[in-house]
Amino acid sequence: MLTSVSAIRHVPSLPMTNDPTAVEMVGVNKWYGTFHVLKNIDLTIQRGEKLVICGPSGSGKSTMIRCINRLEEHQQGRIVVDGIELTGDLKKINEIRRDVGMVFQHFNLFPHLTVLENLTLAPIWVRKMRRKEAEQVAMHYLDRVKIPDQAHKCPGQLSGGQQQRVAIARSLCMSPKIMLFDEPTSALDPEMVKEVLDTMVSLAEEGMTMLCVSHEMGFARQVADRVVFMDQGEIVEINTPAEFFSSPHHERSKLFLAQIL
Ligand code: ADP
Ligand code: MG
Repeated sequence: MLTSVSAIRHVPSLPMTNDPTAVEMVGVNKWYGTFHVLKNIDLTIQRGEKLVICGPSGSGKSTMIRCINRLEEHQQGRIVVDGIELTGDLKKINEIRRDVGMVFQHFNLFPHLTVLENLTLAPIWVRKMRRKEAEQVAMHYLDRVKIPDQAHKCPGQLSGGQQQRVAIARSLCMSPKIMLFDEPTSALDPEMVKEVLDTMVSLAEEGMTMLCVSHEMGFARQVADRVVFMDQGEIVEINTPAEFFSSPHHERSKLFLAQIL
C-alpha cells in the first residue's frame, strides 16, 4: 500500500510515439580521460516504470543518469530517450532536456530569484509560455508540494526540504515525461527526508517514469518496480526490491547491503 502525504496531480505531455520504451541504453561505455566510468551499460526503462539505482560511492550512478539528458556524453553505444537517439545534434539534445526533469542532491535553484521566478523561468523562455499562465502553473505545483506560501521568498530563506520540493515543482512545471533524481534526500537533515520522499511517492503514484539514485530503502521497497545495483561502472544486478533486499543474487550486492543496512 502506498501512503502519501502530498498528492501531486501530474499532467504529463502526450508521448510523441506509442513506443512503450521511455529510455533505452545499449552497450553504453564512457570514459573520463583514461578512467572507464561506465562499462557496457544495457538498460531499458518502460514508460511509467520506477527504477531505483543504488551502489557504492563512485560506482557511476550519477554519470549514468546524467548521460540520459546529456549532462555527460557517452562515447560508445546508444542512448535513446523518448524515441530520440542522443548524438551530437544540439536540437535533439534540447528537445530531450525539455522533456526530462532532473532533481539534484543540492537543489540547484537560482539563489537570487524568488521561488516563483525559479519555477517560471524555463516555461517562459523554453516553452514560450505567457508569464501569467506560467505563474498559474507554478502556483499549482507549489500547492501540490505544499508550499504555496513560500512563492515570493528566495531559496536561501527556505529549509532544505522546502528547497528540494521547490526543485521538484520546478521540474514538474515543464510537464516532463521522465524524471531523474540524483540522491535528492542525501543532503537533507533527517527530519526533512520524509517530506521529500512523500512528494516523490505521490509522483510515482501518478504514473511518472522515474529513475532515482537513492539509498532510501523504504522508498525503494515502496515504489520501485526494479532496483538497479551498480558497482565499478557496471550494472551488477537488476532485481525486484523485495528480492534485492532479502536475497540479493550477487556477492557484491550482498556486501553493499551489509554495509548500508
Ligand atoms: P556515483 O554517483 O556512483 O558516486 P559518479 O558517477 O559521480 O559516481 O562517479 C564515478 C567515478 O567517476 C568516480 O570515480 C568519480 O570520481 C569519477 N568522476 C565523476 N565525474 C568526473 C569528472 N567530471 N571527471 C573525472 N572523473 C569523474
Ligand atoms: Mg553520485
